[in-house]
Amino acid sequence: AKSAGGNRYELADPEADARAITRHGLTTALPAALERDEFFIEYQPLVHLGDGSVRGAEALVRWAHPQHGVLGPDRFIPLAEDTGLIVPLGRWVLEESVRQARRWQERHAEAGPLRINVNLSPCQLQHPGLVSDTVDILDRLGLDPSGLCLEVTESALIGADDDLLKPLRRLSEMGVDIALDDFGTGYSNLANLRRLPVSVLKLDRSFTQGMQQFPADPVDLKLVEGIVSLAHSLNLSVTVEGVETGAQAEALRDMGCDTAQGWYYARPGPPDRLHELALADAIG
Ligand code: C2E
Ligand code: CA
Ligand code: CA
Ligand code: CA
Repeated sequence: AKSAGGNRYELADPEADARAITRHGLTTALPAALERDEFFIEYQPLVHLGDGSVRGAEALVRWAHPQHGVLGPDRFIPLAEDTGLIVPLGRWVLEESVRQARRWQERHAEAGPLRINVNLSPCQLQHPGLVSDTVDILDRLGLDPSGLCLEVTESALIGADDDLLKPLRRLSEMGVDIALDDFGTGYSNLANLRRLPVSVLKLDRSFTQGMQQFPADPVDLKLVEGIVSLAHSLNLSVTVEGVETGAQAEALRDMGCDTAQGWYYARPGPPDRLHELALADAIG
């Protein structure tokens, strides 16, 4: 695929490379890759739909593999989860992202604080060090907890018992926001939302894609409208993923969505690029 927006590389094509890069080869290379600092993070802006201002960014990890080029997270996160490496890798992502959020704060305090969203894998949720590691990183690097949002997928929380929710609840009480990622793909009971310590719903890209056709399916539109009004009645803010066109952005704003993320605004990119976008009054 051709990429717009000035990316410096193309993510390796999974199918073309599947034969050359074995799962086994990648898995065994993972621990050394962490030690050798081969991972890096790209940041994709989170844009306020009301005024087009950049309010923060989602941190998305990549692997600069010395032989195979840049690999996207779908290629190696599942392997890291299988081997347990996701815990130290996730901790590295969190620390690096929080450090970056602090730098943004220092560089343009006047533009208002940029918040950082970091993905958590289900294995990290079950790891007993999650709360203490997070507290330690925030303290050490001096980021207020309200500057951090942790994204957990809907499927990781389906049927979650209290033990699994406890660390999220503690983080939320400290002021860290919790977002329910990929919402709408996991068939969770909407009433269930009330017992989860989440403050943000991230509507999955499949909803935005459903609005691609013209005229958009009226049932899809009603569904999104219904989800947004339910979320708002539960005091949740709504972020939409995968916004690729101005028409989608407009429709989603009219439906009351709060925040948007997608190629229409910017592809994931280096931290300086995010800084530049955040200095603009509005993007998109
Ligand atoms: P996600 O959390 O749902 O992240 C959004 C994905 O959608 C990202 O893919 C992003 O690049 C892509 N995207 C953003 N805007 C658009 C758009 O307008 N159109 C389309 N087609 N795609 C868009 P990416 O970076 O390949 O990440 C894939 C998944 O890998 C993420 O999905 C997340 O589940 C996981 N991931 C990424 N970084 C981390 C991490 O540090 N830790 C963990 N546990 N998972 C991560
Ligand atoms: Ca996410
Ligand atoms: Ca998502
Ligand atoms: Ca996703």
